[in-house]
Amino acid sequence: MELSDSFKAEDFKKCADFHGHICPGLAIGYRFSKKAMDWLRENRADDEEVVAIIETNACGADAVQVLTGCTFGKGNLIFRDYGKHVLTLLSRKSGDGVRVSLKNGALAIDEEHQQLMGKIRKGDATDAEKERFQELHLRRSREVMEKAEETLFDVRKVHEALPPKAKIEPSKLCDRCGEPTMSTKLAAQDGMMLCKECFRREGV
Ligand SMILES: [Zn+2]
Ligand SMILES: [Zn+2]
Repeated sequence: MELSDSFKAEDFKKCADFHGHICPGLAIGYRFSKKAMDWLRENRADDEEVVAIIETNACGADAVQVLTGCTFGKGNLIFRDYGKHVLTLLSRKSGDGVRVSLKNGALAIDEEHQQLMGKIRKGDATDAEKERFQELHLRRSREVMEKAEETLFDVRKVHEALPPKAKIEPSKLCDRCGEPTMSTKLAAQDGMMLCKECFRREGV
């Protein structure tokens, strides 16, 4: 399939490579990451560390990691499991930042697309249906890429105090499995210090 112009930006290609495919969720993640970063560029000092808070761990989260440079490994990506297309970018020091959320009704419901998605999930879509789904999936992704920002997102300034960066703690051994575990993550049970995995098993 011919790659649409909407997907040709270098930074979008990076997101698609990282994520593994082009999809509407990735497109939303791309758009709100760009929006949030533009806002920050205009409103904050460049040298402050930025922290991203995402409210979905679906496709869009990958675009956030590629574009904002906030990642789980660096500890500057916070995941809140709210199931919403919302990205907040904050300065760690001041706690000032921006919240970008998908507008109610920004994207029209596409019955056929949703129906086919359900069929594919259940594993009973035909090849023709899979092909049609891909077509609609890309069309929707393109729609997200092409929509005017103000029709897609609500943007507001926010302030949220963030906890200081987690310190790296020396490891201690779990008294049950013997695996080295960050000492602050061990919990006491029956006179033993257990890792969370063993603690949970014991509790059952
Ligand atoms: Zn995806
Ligand atoms: Zn253990």
